[in-house]
Amino acid sequence: MIRVYKAANAQQRKLIRIGIVVTTIMLFAFMSIQFVIGLRKSQGWVQHTYVVRENLQRLFRILIDMETGQRGYLITHDSSYLQPYNEGIAIYDKALDDLKLLILDDPVQLQSLQELDTLARNKMAELAATIDLKRENRPTALQQVIKTNVGFEYMNAIRDKVVRMQTRERDQLNQRLFTLKRYYTYLTIILAGFLVIGLTLLSQFFRLLDSLESKEIELKKMNDQLELRVQRRTEQLTRSNEELERFAYVSSHDLQEPLRKIATFAQLLQLKHSETLNPEASKYLAVITEGVTRMRSLIRDLLDYSRLNVTAVSFEDVDLKNVIKDVLNDLEVAVKEKNATVIYDDLPIIRGNRTHLHQLFQNLIGNALKFHVKDARPIVQIAAKREKNYWTISVQDNGIGIEPQYADKIFKAFLRLHQKDKYPGTGIGLAICKKIVEEHGGTIWVVPAPKGGSIFKFTFYSSIPIEELITTGGH
Ligand code: ADP
Repeated sequence: MIRVYKAANAQQRKLIRIGIVVTTIMLFAFMSIQFVIGLRKSQGWVQHTYVVRENLQRLFRILIDMETGQRGYLITHDSSYLQPYNEGIAIYDKALDDLKLLILDDPVQLQSLQELDTLARNKMAELAATIDLKRENRPTALQQVIKTNVGFEYMNAIRDKVVRMQTRERDQLNQRLFTLKRYYTYLTIILAGFLVIGLTLLSQFFRLLDSLESKEIELKKMNDQLELRVQRRTEQLTRSNEELERFAYVSSHDLQEPLRKIATFAQLLQLKHSETLNPEASKYLAVITEGVTRMRSLIRDLLDYSRLNVTAVSFEDVDLKNVIKDVLNDLEVAVKEKNATVIYDDLPIIRGNRTHLHQLFQNLIGNALKFHVKDARPIVQIAAKREKNYWTISVQDNGIGIEPQYADKIFKAFLRLHQKDKYPGTGIGLAICKKIVEEHGGTIWVVPAPKGGSIFKFTFYSSIPIEELITTGGH
């Protein structure tokens, strides 16, 4: 419970941390967008101030040029000096309008410009008057006008106005440059913030990588430990299995002796005292003898079964065709008695234990002959089929067959499907077959034959190319 609570807490903490990081990044992003917009605006305003100052200067220049032209004309009476004056008259209004448009946002400057315009127009009127007097050749009147000094005063007032307007623009420029600088500072701070977040995330990422790596190492260690434990347990199991089999082997071996004695003495009793024994005692003795004989065969089979694992097995190349020949030699009597036919073709050479393979085929062919249909000639077919890197060997008969539901059970030791008086046996033969096939790395199973009977199939691994393996034979 506590652990669950702690896990939930850790999960919550993780979510909160992620939330903080994401919110900070979003806030920083929002702020940086705002600052960039502000920066762009400030840049625009700074630019704008420069343009205003330039236009103001231009307007002033026009007036100065007009005055210079007027002076030249008055002194020389050469009308070519009037060119700047005439140009000024032509472009003054346009220059004024341009400037007015630029300072529409600033009422103070607009007011100043209006005053400047009045002064400029007065100045231009004075210029026009003096030029006209010169043109009309009226020096006295001209002298009088010049002496009033009105033109000089107008020009001074204009200069003052221009200087005041320029000062205001300069102040605004300073202010705007300050704002611009502030935005640069903010942006630098934000960038530094991003850098810090980036570095923090990067370090977190590396820490995560580290922890993943250490977790992987831990997992591998646990895996190794588990593997070691499984290996130890398997070794223990194998050891106790071997001990059990050894025990079965030893006990079945030791049991044989007292049984042999019982059988011998029961036979002696029957031989030497048959006349003195009453019929009931003779019957009991016969039952004892039969029981002992069965027990001896059971113990012999058990011994065979347990011996399989106790004795060391050596492998060699074994030609299955020769194995079958040997087996048929051993089963000659049974084959003749039952008038059976055994067919075998294309059998391979496999790597295995000759004795065990002999026992395997003996059990299977023996069963095929034993479990035959009454009054029918047993036919046994042995065949081999190569599939990729293994062989499937089949032993097919036309016997009584096996119900599919018993297909697995019959490979268990002492499991039989029939009464011993109908079909003799101990029920160990197929268990031995299974053990032998598994010892060779294969599996064994049984399927019903299409036209009645059974097909026992088992596999053998092969590392030898197919062409080298096939031998032919027949019987
Ligand atoms: P046993 O032959 O001594 O009874 P096995 O282990 O060889 O023992 O066989 C187990 C049982 O499987 C047999 O009792 C029999 O019922 C069934 N069986 C084995 N081989 C065949 C076969 N070829 N056809 C039909 N039944 C079979």
